[in-house]
Amino acid sequence: MTTYAYGFPRIGKNREYKKLIEGYWKGEFSAEDLREGIAKLEEEILKAYKKQVNYYPTHEITVYDNMLDMAVMIGLYTPTDFNKYFNLCRGENALELTKWFNTNYHYLVPDFSGNNIQLKKNGYKSLLKKQPGQQKLPYLIGPFTLLKLSKGITTDNEFEKRLEEIANIYREIITEVESVHIEEPALVTDLKEREISLIEKTYNTIKKNTNCKIYLFTYYDSVDFLERLINLPVEAIGLDFVSNNKNLKEIERIGFPEDKILIAGIVNGRNVWKTDATSAINILNRLSKHTKNLWISNAAPLYHLPVTTEGESLENELRERLAFATEKLAELREIATFFDNQSIAEEKTENKKSEYSPPSEKSENLPSFSYTQRREIQKSIFNLPLFPSTTIGSFPQTPEVRKKRRQFKTGKISEDEYDKFIRDKIKELIKLQEEIGLDVLVHGEFERSDMVEFFAEKLNGIATTKKGWIISYGTRCYRPAIIHSDVSRSKAMTLNEITYAQSLTNKPVKGMLTGPITILAWSYIREDIPEAKVAYQLASALREEIEDLEKAGIKIVQIDEPAFREKAPIKRRNWEAYFRWAIGAFNSAAVSRPETQLHTHMCYSEFGEIIEYINRMHFDVISIEATRSRGDIIEAFERVEFDRQIGLGVWDIHSPVIPKIEEMKEIVNRALKVIPRENFWINPDCGLKTRQWEETIPSLKNLMQLVKKLREEH
Ligand code: GLN
Ligand code: ZN
Repeated sequence: MTTYAYGFPRIGKNREYKKLIEGYWKGEFSAEDLREGIAKLEEEILKAYKKQVNYYPTHEITVYDNMLDMAVMIGLYTPTDFNKYFNLCRGENALELTKWFNTNYHYLVPDFSGNNIQLKKNGYKSLLKKQPGQQKLPYLIGPFTLLKLSKGITTDNEFEKRLEEIANIYREIITEVESVHIEEPALVTDLKEREISLIEKTYNTIKKNTNCKIYLFTYYDSVDFLERLINLPVEAIGLDFVSNNKNLKEIERIGFPEDKILIAGIVNGRNVWKTDATSAINILNRLSKHTKNLWISNAAPLYHLPVTTEGESLENELRERLAFATEKLAELREIATFFDNQSIAEEKTENKKSEYSPPSEKSENLPSFSYTQRREIQKSIFNLPLFPSTTIGSFPQTPEVRKKRRQFKTGKISEDEYDKFIRDKIKELIKLQEEIGLDVLVHGEFERSDMVEFFAEKLNGIATTKKGWIISYGTRCYRPAIIHSDVSRSKAMTLNEITYAQSLTNKPVKGMLTGPITILAWSYIREDIPEAKVAYQLASALREEIEDLEKAGIKIVQIDEPAFREKAPIKRRNWEAYFRWAIGAFNSAAVSRPETQLHTHMCYSEFGEIIEYINRMHFDVISIEATRSRGDIIEAFERVEFDRQIGLGVWDIHSPVIPKIEEMKEIVNRALKVIPRENFWINPDCGLKTRQWEETIPSLKNLMQLVKKLREEH
């Protein structure tokens, strides 16, 4: 059995990737150092593949993002050196960042708008060093996925025209190589008939007059038009047999062309558990009845996993159950050997997960007070002015803060010293917020490394890693937690800092929690029970925390759910089922006395498509991103009856630019056309942890100037 792997993480065992690129940004490395360093990292990756598998793509490495590299390849952008390239990633001309399918990787969104340039081949990864012998299987994101995930194409005709242009460029590129690795994850999304025909047309164009072998991969879900996909003019097709059993069932129904290779994705690229060899072999045995050429691979790119479990000091029992990217490569080889020498009895059973019906979304948790009643009660307690102002929670995480935390974690300073440091930070921040005049204060989240990791460290049933970094975009990385057992809370998690902050002021301080769905979405989760059940376990721990906060006199609690939309399945037909349990879990956490004001926060720009779901969630106030997508949000509010309060972010905190009063006012004015002014809060888009103090203070001052103006006018 032949093995194939792709998507190995670029971050490096010790985050060499991050250090290299950020070092270049700081001027510590030259462009030549960067080229050399990247080439070395790529060599490491190729070595890792070579050790375990037969086939793997080359040129997967990028200095920031592969979607941008593809857009450069087709001549949409033409940066001629690293600085110009990085300018597109994070400078003045930075492209928008958006989540890559339902993962927590973010890609740069190519923008075709206002741009009639004729696309043309512009070199392939030309800023990087060419490695000898790398003419085999270069990595490409497929033309359809590239265009589908771009923005600025307004009509079907334009889409078709652009796709044809792009297909021609791809053809030019692949005629120069013997074989090519093409990833088309967009083929698993909901597609219209017109799009499917375009995909067929595109691959016919690409393949015309070339002998290049195409290895085409889909992943993250099943393909709805499999019968046509397997007849595309390509040599091999990679399918995902891990996400669900639809691809398997369909192959069993329609068969597979004799002259093509079926590459079965049977090792999970998105979760950290070792592969169950018996069920993998079972799938392979079933597939082998329908195809002569069966290979195996990972079922999604391996960059959703940390590099290796080596060097992790996890409990033995847990460690034995884990496989990160390096270990998954070894698994591919083992399963292949297993398959070739199999003595495993064929199992007929499906790889089944236990059934779980989550408690219904409303029922027991329905607030006994209506939102209007809660609002009246809260009004008399808080007595907030019109256009109440607040922030989303975090304040700048300066190098000083990160250093102290490191010192504490490595035992260089005592717990007392660390606590004192955090308290001083909180104290300064409370004072600052009072001076600036904000109405609802926060404690600043200085004690938190990351909004999920912080809770993961405190909850039972969740492990955190030392070096399990994965990239969320560019060079930015985080360490997902691993939920391995039943989740519960032994003691309060946030009480100390919040109550301390509250003791320093008469203004309300918000208690800050990360919601169950976000903890779930940004962690690896156990697979032996349904994820809905894990979500409910997390929710009940959070609900206990809210009770503790209430008892300690905290009057406002915010539950952050930035990943609420991201966690939704790729196919719309699966949305209702997901949102039912996701909303149910959120609501079973979001239970409070009517006197306690519940806030939630989401940083998602395409609000329209989920407004109905948001409307089913329990909260009194929601804050959301708005600076980048005003129109859409306003439209959404025109469609539903929304009787709660809302803070539309008026300051885009993803950019270092200090927002101008007039610009913010424009956003507010537009929103006030559909949202009653009594329901309107003023706040930034998201937490300020990635900002500098130099931008934060003047921006907040402008924000309060805006509030002052608004109050005068209304
Ligand atoms: N409270 C968090 C913060 O301010 C929310 C972050 C987020 O939505 N991603 O950082
Ligand atoms: Zn946010």
